[in-house]
Amino acid sequence: MSYIKIQCDDCQKVHQIDAKEIDFEQVDSDERQMGAEITYEGNVEIQCDCGKNIEVNHLFWEYPEGVENHKETEVSGGTVVENTL
Ligand SMILES: [Zn+2]
Repeated sequence: MSYIKIQCDDCQKVHQIDAKEIDFEQVDSDERQMGAEITYEGNVEIQCDCGKNIEVNHLFWEYPEGVENHKETEVSGGTVVENTL
């Protein structure tokens, strides 16, 4: 199971968010030479014990279909410690 670990910018507490906690949805698709390139995006927001909001936005692209070929994670409110998403 893939996950991301984020350290809160305010209190340094480390939070782990599992991929299953993120709801991914298809946000875009493009017809290319080898078929469809599909973009998936998922967001999750958690609140740290100190009250800080930490937001994770993860995108990945499948091309050709079923093969993950690129990914990108954006985090606000914290710093990524480990990312296996
Ligand atoms: Zn905190």
